[in-house]
Amino acid sequence: MTDDPTARPGESLLILGAGAVGCTSALAFARRGFKVTVIDRTGPGSGASYGNAGGIVPSASPLAQPGLPWQVPGMLVDPTGPLSIHPAELIKSLPWFLRFVMECSASRAEANSKALYALSGSAAPAWKDLIRGTPAETLLRDVGWLKVYSSEDGFKNHAPERDFLRRRGAPVEILSQDEVRQLEPNLAPIFVRGMLQPDGLFAVNPQRLVEAVATEAMAQGAKFLRETIEDLTVDPDGRITVKTNVTQHKPDRVMICAGAFSKRFAQALGAAPLLVAERGYHAMFDRPEKCTTRPAFWVENSMVLCPMEQGVRLTTQSEFNGLTAEPSYRRLNRLIPKAMEMMPQLNSTVRDRWMGHRPATPDSLPVLGVAPATPRGFFNFGHNHLGLTLSAISAQVAVDLWTQAGLSENIPISAYRPLR
Ligand SMILES: Cc1cc2nc3c(=O)[nH]c(=O)nc-3n(C[C@H](O)[C@H](O)[C@H](O)COP(=O)(O)OP(=O)(O)OC[C@H]3O[C@@H](n4cnc5c(N)ncnc54)[C@H](O)[C@@H]3O)c2cc1C
Repeated sequence: MTDDPTARPGESLLILGAGAVGCTSALAFARRGFKVTVIDRTGPGSGASYGNAGGIVPSASPLAQPGLPWQVPGMLVDPTGPLSIHPAELIKSLPWFLRFVMECSASRAEANSKALYALSGSAAPAWKDLIRGTPAETLLRDVGWLKVYSSEDGFKNHAPERDFLRRRGAPVEILSQDEVRQLEPNLAPIFVRGMLQPDGLFAVNPQRLVEAVATEAMAQGAKFLRETIEDLTVDPDGRITVKTNVTQHKPDRVMICAGAFSKRFAQALGAAPLLVAERGYHAMFDRPEKCTTRPAFWVENSMVLCPMEQGVRLTTQSEFNGLTAEPSYRRLNRLIPKAMEMMPQLNSTVRDRWMGHRPATPDSLPVLGVAPATPRGFFNFGHNHLGLTLSAISAQVAVDLWTQAGLSENIPISAYRPLR
């Protein structure tokens, strides 16, 4: 077989990583007739895809925005603030942080916003298409994505995000204090404004959703192996050998979907993406009798309270401290009283604490495209804060691009290219 850039039905495809991105890709490619095998060291949906806020959110705001670098020092000294950066990580990942600062210019932020919304604006329909008629449908709720503000200043300061959404033409509803109360009567009456994105979806149990997608992929012939990937090499015949702790695999095609752990695999296939682990935390509480019906993002505290099927989940923002450091629950613990403020009927006993690694790129865009070293490799990682959201649409784009089935003109694919 030659090094055909077009992936063809009937070929074997090895997907590295069984998170939301790997499993949605497994289903999409299995349906197109590929012989799919997925490798993960744990089961489906047990990485970052396990503990997120469950939002499938049409987002148009890249993290890097004009003015942000000036706000960072204030965020870093605030003990409950949305950001912490470990000094060693700052030094180790300096090229990432320098690039992030460059992406904060008005023109870069606008370009990134367009490219982000080109995917996220189609994320909810892509999810619905992917799981239509399967048991996974019961895990998605059509309740939108709600942000709440406890002060008029907080609402004003958040204007840039609303402006990005409006410029992209995204549906946004601004809510008064009364409207927030009517929508979520079981939130404390402390919120003076709200913003609802009515086309957002909510996954009431993200891990079960990913597992259900994996089950559907298996029904379409995909296999799942529990192995640890150790190394990738491009052989003289152009094929990729994937060495695991169990064996060596030499499939027709390989797709990298290992989230924040993807960098060294991508390096083996000819790219050195700027990818770091942006850690986030959650705490789980028992579900009170009177609960909310959708996630509520308290903007001033950068925290989300999510009514999951297994309890109420508090999720937090960003910590930069690499892939291997132990979790530090200090900031999460400081936000627990805020969760009680949001929902006073919540029992303050924390059932479970968790930390996960978001795969972060400086421009908030995923890395999506054929590997530079060989067309037998494909990158599908780096989905930042939106990996659950973007997984189904990324799987669709990956199939269309790799099989050269014709990509929608609305997808600016070069914005996601591996070498950028
Ligand atoms: C607190 C928090 C809240 C979030 N909220 C949201 C939200 O509301 N909406 C949203 O869209 N996104 C959210 N995210 C982001 C989202 O969770 C991630 O972007 C997404 O889960 C990434 O999916 P993934 O499949 O790329 O990676 P992962 O889910 O991390 O999957 C990668 C897989 O690769 C496997 N792997 C890695 N290395 C190896 C190896 N050497 N051998 C074998 N297997 C390996 C891992 O075991 C893992 O299963 C949130 C994240 C956090 C932390």
